[in-house]
Amino acid sequence: MTGRASIVIVGGGASGVLLAAHLLKSPNPDLRVTLIEKSENFGRGRAYSTALPDHVLNVSAMGMSGYADDPEHFWRWVQASKIITDGNPAVYLPRAVYGRYLHELLQDNLQRERETGRLRLVRETCLGVSPTPSGVDVRLANGTSIACHAAVLAVGHDEEPSPEHPLAVRIDSPADTPLDDQASVLILGTGLSMVDAWLTLEHRGHRGKIVAVSRRGLLPSPHRKGNPIRLDVADVPLGTQLSYFVGWLRDLIRATQKAGGDWRDVLDALRPFNQQVWQSWPASAKRRFVEHTKAWWDIHRHRMAPPIYARLEKAVEAGRVRLVAARVDGMQERSGKLAVRLKHRRSQTLKTLVVDRVYDCTGITKDLSTGSIAVVRDLIDRGFARPDPLKLGLDVTESCAVIGETGSVSDKLFAVGPLTRGAFFEIEAIPDIRAQCARLAKVLAGG
Ligand SMILES: Cc1cc2nc3c(=O)[nH]c(=O)nc-3n(C[C@H](O)[C@H](O)[C@H](O)COP(=O)(O)OP(=O)(O)OC[C@H]3O[C@@H](n4cnc5c(N)ncnc54)[C@H](O)[C@@H]3O)c2cc1C
Repeated sequence: MTGRASIVIVGGGASGVLLAAHLLKSPNPDLRVTLIEKSENFGRGRAYSTALPDHVLNVSAMGMSGYADDPEHFWRWVQASKIITDGNPAVYLPRAVYGRYLHELLQDNLQRERETGRLRLVRETCLGVSPTPSGVDVRLANGTSIACHAAVLAVGHDEEPSPEHPLAVRIDSPADTPLDDQASVLILGTGLSMVDAWLTLEHRGHRGKIVAVSRRGLLPSPHRKGNPIRLDVADVPLGTQLSYFVGWLRDLIRATQKAGGDWRDVLDALRPFNQQVWQSWPASAKRRFVEHTKAWWDIHRHRMAPPIYARLEKAVEAGRVRLVAARVDGMQERSGKLAVRLKHRRSQTLKTLVVDRVYDCTGITKDLSTGSIAVVRDLIDRGFARPDPLKLGLDVTESCAVIGETGSVSDKLFAVGPLTRGAFFEIEAIPDIRAQCARLAKVLAGG
């Protein structure tokens, strides 16, 4: 299939940069890649813009290469940059370091393409994307627009708090005004976003009591050096109901533990098949998974760097952080503070907690049709796109083509990264995003 000559990528975070890098692997001299990013920071996006050294990667250095076909690319860069000298790849580096790596990876491509002009960076906000008879028209906030053959949405994560907690704020957002260091804090969520918020409060010298609440009140597990069992695709049950799959997984974990292994050895072995398992499931199994199993899955699949886990565990033992299994039943302002009614999971009793600040760390999955990403909402409002059936992201095909309101599949609008959770589920972390970008680049650049 002949490639599309001019491709515009909207969003210059990790997904946009890795797609551009994989597209430029194509020998096609006529290829033109334009990467549009609204912030100053190409390559960083939401995950790698943090400057806090405690905000570390949750994947060890050996697993974070930006290139699908060069697994040691990041590790070589770390050593060449003398970021660490002890040669131990099982290290969890600050996310800021990874932001620098993505930035330099992009600059290297820009340098390499200086003569060819095949890569252009545009620091601007994209306001809208419209299919045209000859391709796509990409409208920018500076009043100009770019015509291209295909456009890829890589706008990542929603930045606003979830509508159901309007009194809560996002950490480091404009609403996160200075707080007395003894102030009492409630954090909604006990996942990796909560851990990030806790580390930020620690870094600010916060000393007040912190309560973190989620349905199960459980922390993400720590990574541990493992020994993944051997699994082939033929071993993995595809297309079954959720109950069958969960039963199979539970039995396999029990057998592995009986043989002296660990549950991580099973989940790590299953990792390469997660997208296939998700895509093979009927809609009912996906819905049941999201409603009943995802919370358990997230704390076992998305793990914490061991040093961070040890610190948090100490803070919990010392009573500085209290984990609560409950759901928010109501929240209101009360004489300058926030009164939050919690329905406790075990006792089913209602108790009110009065705090100075509530942080929303309920993760980043939002219904895009009501989310804050205007360029996506605009496409949905005009029928060129639609949320996926579970509203986890944008509805796309397995080759990342955007599906319109009527179910029509676009041949010029695509999406990558977390936006495509509904179709891939396992598409948050870099190892999955780089593989997706490599596949899409082949399609778009013709390969
Ligand atoms: C806090 C956090 C920590 C993570 N840690 C890890 C980790 O350790 N290891 C790992 O493998 N994965 C990690 N992930 C997951 C993964 O890396 C991210 O999912 C990935 O960075 C997503 O990148 P993205 O480019 O799709 O989205 P984003 O990072 O959200 O980037 C989207 C970009 O699009 C730009 N943009 C948005 N709208 C417009 C517009 N209209 N016009 C122009 N530009 C626009 C934004 O400014 C932003 O730069 C983490 C995710 C988060 C949120």
